[in-house]
Amino acid sequence: MEKPFRVVVTGDTLAPEAMLLLSAKCRVVFAGPYPDPSKLAQLVRQERAQALIVRTGKATAEVIQASPDLRVVAKHGVGFDNIDVNAAAALRIPVMISATANFESVAEHTLGLMLSLAKDLPRMDGRMHQGFWDKTQYRGVELFRKTLGIIGFGRIGRRVSQLVAPLQMRIMISDPYIPEESIPPAIQRVSQLEPLLKEVDIVSIHCPLTEETRNLIGNKELLIMKKTAFLINTARGGIVDEEALIEALRAGKISGAAIDTFRQEPPEDLRRLCEAGKVILTPHIAAATDAAFTRMGAEAARNTLAILEGEKPDRNYMANPEILESP
Ligand code: NAD
Repeated sequence: MEKPFRVVVTGDTLAPEAMLLLSAKCRVVFAGPYPDPSKLAQLVRQERAQALIVRTGKATAEVIQASPDLRVVAKHGVGFDNIDVNAAAALRIPVMISATANFESVAEHTLGLMLSLAKDLPRMDGRMHQGFWDKTQYRGVELFRKTLGIIGFGRIGRRVSQLVAPLQMRIMISDPYIPEESIPPAIQRVSQLEPLLKEVDIVSIHCPLTEETRNLIGNKELLIMKKTAFLINTARGGIVDEEALIEALRAGKISGAAIDTFRQEPPEDLRRLCEAGKVILTPHIAAATDAAFTRMGAEAARNTLAILEGEKPDRNYMANPEILESP
């Protein structure tokens, strides 16, 4: 029997829980990971897709306009900078995010990167695998009562601040968009980035990539940071100017960086970044745990089905809630 709804997914799989939800009512077609936008548009057109679930790759205007029947774009995750939200809004198509699915996993990954940088774990492990015993040359960094700067105090940034609590770190945050009363009393908010960058031992980025945050951390900002400081970016590559980061690491302007997200993914050439200094890299996997994958798939599937079945979109899960206001 023909299923009432047609869904295209940019990726090669969804969690079984998500497939269970979708498959009763939807024909689900997978476009494969990081599909070329023109080929994706062709598939969306050919399927006359009513829903697009975006995992990897870009949902450009061409993709969104490809099917006259498209009624919802659902992000498998929270970062929606790979979706042309304006193109969707122009067609009054809601862009839904899996808002609560992955903050725990990303915060844990951030903590892992923080400890790895401070203790130089990947290098020590690599050296031992090669048969070395560098005990006498090694000096790690103790995180106890150090200062952590969090840029973007949303779900992930907030959770990171909770996870480091036993380390009694002083926490400074930069987030112009949250109400004062939502900030715990021990946490200091700054209105300008500069005082935070000047004082902290670790900068951890947890804001979205927007026109305002593109290259937020560039030459000038890296120069302000302490020479002993570490930078962690598990948010989006475009927020850090990668060339400026390479220069800062090379020149010893900061002590190290741990990066999960890159300006271009997959990156073309990481050699210069790898050789620039103490650099720990992971391939955009901060949210890739079984638990988060299941929740992201299930939330994306539920968001998709709700719209296809005629429910009003929940503004808390929308990237373009303004379409609810306009007539
Ligand atoms: P969130 O919306 O809960 O929090 C983002 C916070 O950033 C908000 O509080 C917002 O006010 C703040 N913000 C916006 N502009 C800012 C600016 N100019 N300066 C400082 N703060 C600003 O989102 P979240 O769930 O915490 O996720 C944060 C980001 O992490 C996402 O946008 C996404 O790009 C990234 N992310 C990455 C992975 C990964 O796998 N590495 C997974 C999930 C999310």
